[in-house]
Order: sequence, then C-alpha cells, then structure tokens
Amino acid sequence: MPLIIVTGLPTSGKSTRAKQLHDFFAERIAANTASTTSTPKYRLHLISDQTQGIQRAVYDLSPAELPAHVRSANASEKDARAALYGAVKRVLSPRDIVILDGLNYIKGWRYQLFCEAKNMRTPSAVLQIGCTVDRARSVNEARLKRREAVATSAAAENTNNDDANDGDDDNEEPYAPANWDNLVFRYEEPNPMTRWDSPLFTLIWEDDAAQARDVFAKIWDVVAGEARKVVRPNQ
Ligand code: ADP
Repeated sequence: MPLIIVTGLPTSGKSTRAKQLHDFFAERIAANTASTTSTPKYRLHLISDQTQGIQRAVYDLSPAELPAHVRSANASEKDARAALYGAVKRVLSPRDIVILDGLNYIKGWRYQLFCEAKNMRTPSAVLQIGCTVDRARSVNEARLKRREAVATSAAAENTNNDDANDGDDDNEEPYAPANWDNLVFRYEEPNPMTRWDSPLFTLIWEDDAAQARDVFAKIWDVVAGEARKVVRPNQ
C-alpha cells in the first residue's frame, strides 16, 4: 500500500488536487496494464472525510458548539481519525495505492500513518497543498454565503434552488468560521527534515496542469516507479 498523505489548510484545494492525482495515477496504471496485457499491478483508493461520511463539525472545538467534557476529550475528532485509520488499514496490501485526502494537520497523526506504511513495507509520501490563508478563507466564505442563499431561498419556498447556486457546482459544506480559524491556528506544517514528512511534495494554488502533472509523476516514481525503495520496518 503505497500511501500518499495529502495535507493543507482547510479549503485550500486539497480535494481538487487529490482527485487530479487520482486521475493521473489511474492513467498510469491503465497504461502499464495495457502494455503488459496482465491484470493491473496496482489498485487505487481515494479516502477522505467525504468518503467516510465525516462532517466538518467533528473538528470544531469552539465552546459554543460542544459541551466542555467533549471539548476536553476532543472525542469526535478522535473518532473521525479512527474511522480514517481503519479505512486506510482495510485496504493495506503491496498492490494498493492509497491517497488520503484530508487536513492531516497533526504531525503525530502523520507519524502514525508513516509507521503503518512502514509496517506494511511500503512507501509513503506527503503532498502539501500550498495556499494563502486569505485565499483559503475566501473559499470557505463563498461556501458559507452559498449555503445561506440556499437556506433563504428554501425558506421562501422557492423550489428552484439553482438560483442560489449562481451556476457554481461547488456543493461542499463550509466550515463554521470559528472552526475554520481554529484549524488554521492548529495546523502543523510538514517538515521535510523528519522521516514521516518525507519525501515532501508541494503544489500551490497557482500551479497549472503541466506543473501538477510534473509533481504527480515524481510522486509516482517514488511510490510505484524506478525510485521506489525497499522499505524495512526497523529503519
Ligand atoms: P479542500 O479540499 O481543501 O477543502 P477543495 O479542493 O474542495 O478544497 O477546493 C475548494 C474550492 O476551490 C473548489 O471550489 C475548487 O474548485 C477550488 N479550487 C481548488 N484548487 C484550485 C486551484 N488550484 N485553482 C482554482 N480553483 C481551485
């Protein structure tokens, strides 16, 4: 199970890049299979909060949202991480490439995932999505406005909610503003000097399709190509 951990600020474009990476890898696997006419060497999995049905609110530690005992135990977020961990582990095998799309903002959590990959003697890599705080905030604010407009038009018994959608097909749920601010504050940047955050690849918002493909090709090389190293659990 080569594991690619996608990480970045909330609403910084992680899912967009994770889907692009998924499509790129799917193409590579199909091309390799066509040339060998055998069964595909790899299976591909994209795991995220959305695929696991995890709501944005599980990350919310603001006192208004949660009673004190829940806040101190941070239980909902721990449960969410356990669900993601279980989903990753379930598909572990040397033939399965897993793209884990999410905040993945706690370095201890990335360390845990790195160890899991190592136990499976399979490579891991981190893809950081770089985006300014202002840009990421504006994406969340647009989603908040969209949700408000949809709620208002529904309240006015306007059955045509498309009016509130402005023709934009971004239907993802926003984060509550305090939750979003708090996640940015808690974000632990990957450090390529540590084993668990390396190799570290970065894509920024402005990177175009050609630059993205270039980075995806380098990731492929590390997890499935020539540069793939033999992983030993005790190293
Ligand atoms: P996240 O997964 O971090 O919450 P998304 O991938 O859902 O973020 O992206 C948030 C919004 O920003 C989406 O509407 C998406 O289409 C847009 N977006 C993401 N990345 C880019 C980019 N590099 N250039 C332009 N728009 C982008």
